[in-house]
Amino acid sequence: MSQVTIHPAVDRGVKPGNPGFSGGTLRCLCANDPVIVEIASQTAHNHVCGCTKCWKPDGAVFSQVAVVGRDAVTVTQGANKLSVVDPSAAIQRHACSGCGAHMYGRIEDTGHPFHGLDFVHTELSDQSGWSAPEFAAFCSSVIESGVNPERMDGIRARLRELGLAPYDCLSPPLMDAIATHVAKANGVLEPA
Ligand SMILES: [Zn+2]
Ligand SMILES: [Zn+2]
Repeated sequence: MSQVTIHPAVDRGVKPGNPGFSGGTLRCLCANDPVIVEIASQTAHNHVCGCTKCWKPDGAVFSQVAVVGRDAVTVTQGANKLSVVDPSAAIQRHACSGCGAHMYGRIEDTGHPFHGLDFVHTELSDQSGWSAPEFAAFCSSVIESGVNPERMDGIRARLRELGLAPYDCLSPPLMDAIATHVAKANGVLEPA
């Protein structure tokens, strides 16, 4: 089923992460004056995502995206080339104006369930050891990018074959985290 392509980082099998890995360098795709972002910790909740907002390389059906604490993210070069793709979106995706790569996505709304976490694409690093993708989010949304709905059975089967459970929202642990945040904010559950 390997003729069904998902994303270059997983199409030949998911590479395991290295639990001892403690961060690395993301570099945009510009040949000259690249934007460079240093990540000072391992990533978490890495996954492939079918939504239309995440940055993906040319030809990929899914993006690959992970989270990391915002304090661990530092732009060390090329900050002047970055601009926010959609200032009205919950996730402020800071993209390189030269190559289009999204260098980090940040949530500024302190009430958002994922405030404090930045979204990053570890494929922009040439280091190995980043946390491995664990699941596939927003699978049905690839249709919004132009994928023929008739391909969905094959895409979901390939994701399962890769060990990336396909969901049409986020994974159960992340959906539970969102609902818990909302329940605490509404007073339905005791705050931690
Ligand atoms: Zn660039
Ligand atoms: Zn996405």
